[in-house]
Amino acid sequence: MVFDHNFNLDDGSINWGPTESHREYHRKMFQGFLAQTPQKLRQACCDDEGRLVHILQAEHFDLPFLEHICEVTTAARRSYKFASAKMHEMLARKKVLHLFAQPSSRTFESFTVASSNLGMTSRSLRDLRTSSSAKGESDRDALRTHSSYFDAIVFRSPCDYFDMFALWVMSTSNRPIPIINGGSGKAKHPTQAILDYYTIRASLERQIDGKSFAFVGDCLRGRTVHSLAKVLALHKDIEMYFVAPEEYQIDPQTEAYLKKKGVKVNKVTGGLEGIPEIITGAVYMTRIQDEHDGDGEQKRYNPRFIFTEKMLDQLQDPAVLMHPLPKREEIYPAIDYRSDRKIMIWREMRNGMWTRTALFAHIFGFDQEVLRSYHEASKAYAPTPL
Ligand code: ASP
Repeated sequence: MVFDHNFNLDDGSINWGPTESHREYHRKMFQGFLAQTPQKLRQACCDDEGRLVHILQAEHFDLPFLEHICEVTTAARRSYKFASAKMHEMLARKKVLHLFAQPSSRTFESFTVASSNLGMTSRSLRDLRTSSSAKGESDRDALRTHSSYFDAIVFRSPCDYFDMFALWVMSTSNRPIPIINGGSGKAKHPTQAILDYYTIRASLERQIDGKSFAFVGDCLRGRTVHSLAKVLALHKDIEMYFVAPEEYQIDPQTEAYLKKKGVKVNKVTGGLEGIPEIITGAVYMTRIQDEHDGDGEQKRYNPRFIFTEKMLDQLQDPAVLMHPLPKREEIYPAIDYRSDRKIMIWREMRNGMWTRTALFAHIFGFDQEVLRSYHEASKAYAPTPL
């Protein structure tokens, strides 16, 4: 199954090489790399000082790391207007490649703007038919090539384990640049989890312990659901409701992971009615991830799981409504025209640009610089609330 580490390396999502013997050789090397303990693999994501520099999966985060990124995010967001010239110079010599093998609007654009906020040069490769992949180049060679020109790579891939694959390639290279997972397969979207966490933390005024959260829609294949649930599980006394029909319910591996972390897990298959009023943290809506069905059809959303205006009224302070976007029919259209503090969807999206700015600053060791420029700027103006 895709959600633990028993990957099916023959699923065709990675080009391992030109011949069966090449493929076998590289797969064996990769398996050897994966055989390390989870602790060792996390360590492989850190620099010599123990800073997490490869941002690959929610399982690698802890609360001090998230707290730090949130602080740098707020500093970048608040000081940008006043210290933009300074921020624009910070990473002026750094170059990032956005290597996106799947459609993306928000992740791609927000990473691009985030890199320009810090003065980085960014390039993108979205249509792999224009790269040497079309000439049969292996994904391993492609990544090594890109890492020769750039200082960081942000990737998006249909492959559930592309994060580990990329980490392995970097670990065998003499130029192991930081890599950031902008969404891999059905399993992981760690930077979305950070921006969602930032939004939740601000909305709940940092009181996340003891709160309850509802994940609605496609809990099986929604990578944002998996990553955010794992991040929230770092807090104490968390209760989660997975609200989805049986066929889209949370997978057993993620459920077991959450329970092990002490989360109280509830699975609700009948519909969303009655849930928003008991939620104290956030209702997190998601679309059906039907691109994984392979038949090219857009599946209709079960009306019993639609978030209505009545539900918005039932949502109790300080709980909020969230959605990683894109949304389709899972949220009632009138909600687009409601002006309500509880609707955090668009704020959440904008927060993505700032959390990704903070992540770039962090991986290149300029996070303290961002904090400093905020403290200097804050002497000159009163900050705006979230
Ligand atoms: N944008 C999110 C993702 O890439 C959510 C979605 O596509 O539904 O996973």
